[in-house]
Amino acid sequence: MAPHIVDLTRVIQPTGPDDERKFVVNIHNALAEIPGKQRPAGEWYVMSDVALMNHVGTHIEMPFHCLKEGADLAQIPVEQLCGEAVILDLSEAEAEFGVTLAQVQTAAAKAGGIHPGDIAFGRMGPTKYFSTEGLAWLVEQGIKLMGVDSGGVELTHDTTHANVNHLLLFRAGIPLIENLTNLDALNQSWVHVYALPVPVSGLDAFPLRVIAVEN
Ligand SMILES: [Zn+2]
Repeated sequence: MAPHIVDLTRVIQPTGPDDERKFVVNIHNALAEIPGKQRPAGEWYVMSDVALMNHVGTHIEMPFHCLKEGADLAQIPVEQLCGEAVILDLSEAEAEFGVTLAQVQTAAAKAGGIHPGDIAFGRMGPTKYFSTEGLAWLVEQGIKLMGVDSGGVELTHDTTHANVNHLLLFRAGIPLIENLTNLDALNQSWVHVYALPVPVSGLDAFPLRVIAVEN
């Protein structure tokens, strides 16, 4: 039987230049400078300038996002970006200050447990982020990559911008994927994942394609 492939990536719609999370595409006619060069109707030869805010759409954040000495996009090994992922169903979890330790542990137990070297993806519900205790427990289990289908894991009630939850992951060398989608289209709580950004030196984050494969 052919494997079931699910795209966990949101489509990015290009924006205007003034959007806070911009992704501007300027298409250029690459034949314009060559005199006499023409193409038949319906054809062209273009190249594009792209200007983006790098935390746009489904994107991955590296430790370098918060740690000056943390790994950037080019330094993280691909082995850390591919592998077995546990899907934590937190779509019903409600909590005032982020999904609780008990809610995370219950979701993990239902999915079949978490093991060192796993990827953990959170399917979030009304509570879109993690309590520090809940996230710390995932880090203690030895996960190598974290992802959520919400805008992030950070404490929304922490107005100090201390990035407590980001740092909990990044200090353990764990990258974070934000704005996943289609986790509800998965049939299994364990899937094989490929999450591959372009390896850019000195960059903290970038949009990426995230693919899940079910057997
Ligand atoms: Zn981000």
